[in-house]
Amino acid sequence: MPKPITDLIHHPYQPPAKFAAPQPGVFKASTVFFADVAAMRARDWKTKAGYTYGLHGTPTTFTLEARLAALEGATDCLLVPSGLAAISLVAFALLKTGGEVLIPDNAYGPNKALATGELANFGITHRLYDAMDPSDLAAKLSERTQLVWLEAAGSVTMEFPDLPALAALCRARGVVSALDNTWGAGLAFAPFDLDGSGEGVDISVHALTKYPSGGGDVLMGSVTTRDARLHQALKLTHMRMGWGVGVGDVETLLRALPSIALRYEAHDRSARHLARWLSERDEIAQVLHPALQGSPGHAHWRALCGDTDLAAGLFSVVFDERYGAEEVDRFCDSLALFKLGYSWGGPISLVVPYDIGLMRDASVARWPHRGTLVRFSVGLEAVEDLQADLSQALAAL
Ligand SMILES: *Cc1c(COP(=O)(O)O)cnc(C)c1O
Repeated sequence: MPKPITDLIHHPYQPPAKFAAPQPGVFKASTVFFADVAAMRARDWKTKAGYTYGLHGTPTTFTLEARLAALEGATDCLLVPSGLAAISLVAFALLKTGGEVLIPDNAYGPNKALATGELANFGITHRLYDAMDPSDLAAKLSERTQLVWLEAAGSVTMEFPDLPALAALCRARGVVSALDNTWGAGLAFAPFDLDGSGEGVDISVHALTKYPSGGGDVLMGSVTTRDARLHQALKLTHMRMGWGVGVGDVETLLRALPSIALRYEAHDRSARHLARWLSERDEIAQVLHPALQGSPGHAHWRALCGDTDLAAGLFSVVFDERYGAEEVDRFCDSLALFKLGYSWGGPISLVVPYDIGLMRDASVARWPHRGTLVRFSVGLEAVEDLQADLSQALAAL
């Protein structure tokens, strides 16, 4: 007779197979069992036809991957531990010693830091291009270019590039284009069909940390593509690097995803209201919000996102230059509902002051403003309360 502890561990009870409920089951595993040695030897971890090992996926991670691919009109998706890991997965999968990656001047900062750090160590060069000038990208594409990053809107400075033109340039030169689509969240526009004829970028990456999670409590990233060969290359690197995700976090994402469109629209509506209101304040020299007329790239936003009329809950303002950096810091400190914090996409509104001079390579796109920039991420609070908070902090200037 086995001891009770052995019975407990090898208990024969199996719950009945069919169970239907709003949320899919949560399967956590490092080890996955095989029926026999032949099944173990036959299983191919590179397909989703079966399971081999926790790192290669469980029914729960496969389900999230399938839903994220569907959201963007893609066929394949890989989950990684953060948005930045999604960026580095693309880089490690596609770049080789002697090659070059082109990055928009206004890209998410850590993408550039990866290039100046690890990629430079591996003998891979990078160049920044002016995201608002397709001819600058055209001039910088070379024999050595192995990957071009795209991003819309630009990180912090919010310029909206001519994405269809940039993607078309990459296609014409046979260079893989990868879009950081965190801002669009798969809702504002279709990254794999930018021009209405089914042409788009080759790869889309997301910080699921932002709107897909929506809670400010989970870090995760995704890499989607419609190209089976690209997916295979990404999957091999994913497996060799070991970038697995926690299934508890996947469960949180699956719980949050059904409400993403409602949340995104609510963030967008409040952000546009506040951006318009701030654009009329005389303390503010410029509001940078792609859906606002006069914002850099507004026409590109209208051309790409006019149908959905969506624009995320993110915008920046440049203060009039009569206010120094210290006064703008005081404005940020005076806010009560807007918390000081990086990242975005959660229920709580956030604010960050930035020194753009430190972020930009002045040799590429020129930054025309002298005043200090402040970036807002608008949460889900009542917009009247957020406006009152901004109003009292402006009064403290
Ligand atoms: C936040 C963010 C990332 C990185 O996401 P993490 O999950 O925080 O690593 C990448 N790109 C953009 C545009 C982001 O806003």
